[in-house]
Order: sequence, then C-alpha cells, then structure tokens
Amino acid sequence: MVASDSLVRLETSEALILDVVNLHERDRIVTFLTREAGKKKGVAQGSRARHSRFAGQLQPLAKVAITWFEKEGRELARISSVELIRPAGKLQEDLEGILLGSYLADHLLEFAQENEPSEAFYRLLDSTLAALLDGVDRDLAARYFEAWILRLAGIFPAPRECPVCGRPFGGELAAHGAILPPNADALLCAECGGSAGLQVSGEVLAFLRQIGRQALPAVRESPPSARVLRQVEDLCARVRRYFLQRELRSYDVIRQTRASL
Ligand SMILES: [Zn+2]
Repeated sequence: MVASDSLVRLETSEALILDVVNLHERDRIVTFLTREAGKKKGVAQGSRARHSRFAGQLQPLAKVAITWFEKEGRELARISSVELIRPAGKLQEDLEGILLGSYLADHLLEFAQENEPSEAFYRLLDSTLAALLDGVDRDLAARYFEAWILRLAGIFPAPRECPVCGRPFGGELAAHGAILPPNADALLCAECGGSAGLQVSGEVLAFLRQIGRQALPAVRESPPSARVLRQVEDLCARVRRYFLQRELRSYDVIRQTRASL
C-alpha cells in the first residue's frame, strides 16, 4: 500500500508573483511564474491574518523564493513559505506604474502555460522588471516586452522578409516597410499585403529587429521616437487581439485611463 504522503511533493523555486487574490476570510490565492515549472497557482493559508508569516511578502511582480506542496490531482498547490528577493513596490507608486505592472503580469497569465518550463518567459519578465526598477523609460520597456512576448509565443514572425514572396523588407520594392493585413498576424511586403492592412513603417521594423539583437538596457541607449513606439504598440495590440480573439483586460483599462486624462 502506498502511503498518501508519497503523492505529496515539496518544491522550492525562484518565482515572480503574477497575481494575488483574496480567498475567504483568511487566505489568498497566489499565481506565480517559475523557470522550470511554468505558471503555478497555490493557496497561502492564513495570509490575510494579521500576524501571518506571509505578511508583506505577497506583492504582485515581486521576485521571491517560494516553497510549496503539490498533491497529485489537486489543482491548487499549498504555499508554505515565501521569501522576498526583489520587491516591486517602487513600480507601484503611481497609477501609470500600477497599470503597467498589471499589463506585464496579464501577458504571462495569458501566454505562459501551467507546469511547463518557461525559462524564456521568466527571463523576459525578470529582466524587464529589473530594467523598470532601474528607471528605464516605461513606454520603451512596455513595447519591448509586448513585442517579445508575441515572439516567444511563436505568434510574431521575425520582421525580415515577406513570408509569401520571400522578398526582404526594407529593400527597394518595399519602401513602405511592411503591411499587416486585417485579421492576420503575419507581416507581408507592400505588394503581397494589399492595401487594406496596417502600414508598418521601416522604423517599426528596425525596432523589432533591434530588440531581437539587443537586451533592454542596450536598446535604451538608442531608443526610437515616441511616434515609433506608438506604432509598435498598435501593431502588437492588433496581432495579440487577433491571436487571443479579444483584448487583454489590463490593456482596456490602460486605454480607458489614457482617454480620460
Ligand atoms: Zn511579398
């Protein structure tokens, strides 16, 4: 006979906290991202109590060392301890920072898979948060992050050549950069793309190629203009919407907030 205890596994990992929601009067459900085990969800029992051992540790986007128990067949893990490695409170001191934080986390909640290794997603979120805490321009960081997420999810092809005719972008015959046809997630050349799609400028393509070669701290040294960043945002939002078939909730909030300012 197998003791039921043998089906319980104890795990410890470095993690980034994605979401914290209240559960009943005393507990919280925490969603976190690990390198090896992807996205995880667990209950932090008693974490709403006044003298909880989790006090102050469960901050969205904080980097933590987390230990949890997993029982076979149970959807929720049980979190036994959380130690803060890098707080993210500095990001959440103003409304814009709070909205950006939930926008970053929202992407991982959507695109990272449960129980699947997610080294690349983890590194992207970790390095973006580190750069933001170091004072990198938020607009630049958000555009870098959203374009990379789509690439890592395998949705966004490298912006180098037209997948239909094979012509490289930026050549003489593609003076307008590229076209994103309506309801599509591929960039085509001006000839293959038709006239109904979104015109993607050569500067936007150059930025998308640049972030493929350079990490955020290097991109920071030669950032594109705010106008190009708006175009990148629009392009990524369309591709993401097409893939998800809806808008990210946090992006709706960002747009409504911008419109009301
Ligand atoms: Zn083409």
